[in-house]
Amino acid sequence: RLEIRDLSRHFAGRTVVDHVSLRVMPGQVTCLLGPSGCGKSTTLRCIAGVDMQDSGEIHLDGKLVCDTVFRVPPERRSIGLMFQDFALFPHMSVADNVAFGLTGGKAERRARVEALLDRVDLMRHIDAFPHELSGGEQQRVALARALAPGPSVMLMDEPFSGLDNRLRDGIRDETLEILKEAGAAVLLVTHEPEEAMRMADEIALMRDGRIVQQGAPYNVYNAPADKAAAAFFSDIN
Ligand code: ATP
Ligand code: MG
Repeated sequence: RLEIRDLSRHFAGRTVVDHVSLRVMPGQVTCLLGPSGCGKSTTLRCIAGVDMQDSGEIHLDGKLVCDTVFRVPPERRSIGLMFQDFALFPHMSVADNVAFGLTGGKAERRARVEALLDRVDLMRHIDAFPHELSGGEQQRVALARALAPGPSVMLMDEPFSGLDNRLRDGIRDETLEILKEAGAAVLLVTHEPEEAMRMADEIALMRDGRIVQQGAPYNVYNAPADKAAAAFFSDIN
């Protein structure tokens, strides 16, 4: 599980993440939802360990991984990452992309790769290179790669925004099913209320670096905390 306590990050005297606290349990999807520039990606980067907060603590599975003096390096946190552009390794095959973070013997790694590619329905592309795949297929490779080491936490930053509109809903549903099977605690960043309503067990609404409201999608949608929250949801129909 993921727990962040009182996380803040400043850039050049400006507070971009402002005392954010969140808890995500295994098998649960929390959507960090908010407009562009509100600090979503910065929050995710601190959790991933590629940036460091100025104050506050991050705990994974009950263990401190980062506070202001102590920091576990990114590769030693049990975290899977997925980004908007998928960030596949262009010079590696699908199989090698998925195997990238795996340890263990060759046969064991191969079996894990095949099981994952089978799950995302991409076995026929196992030897292909990323540029030979469609956007939706690349997205599924990125998902398989992120889940391969069995991370306890998945961080996803706008993982569907690069996709064709027509495909997006189907891919969201399929991704959600796979995430639930994997049982990771998922923190998914989006600026689209619709996506959060579709995917989240819990929505954390962020504005100007702060969590302004948190709760079940239905509750946040029906009882927005203030006018700005209501306006933000108003373009869903
Ligand atoms: P979007 O939906 O557009 O991706 P976001 O909510 O992910 O937005 P962040 O990327 O977290 O927003 O950025 C929040 C603010 O912090 C922005 O104003 C951005 O310019 C600023 N910022 C982020 N990283 C840095 C940095 N390394 N140095 C200075 N300012 C930064
Ligand atoms: Mg962002």
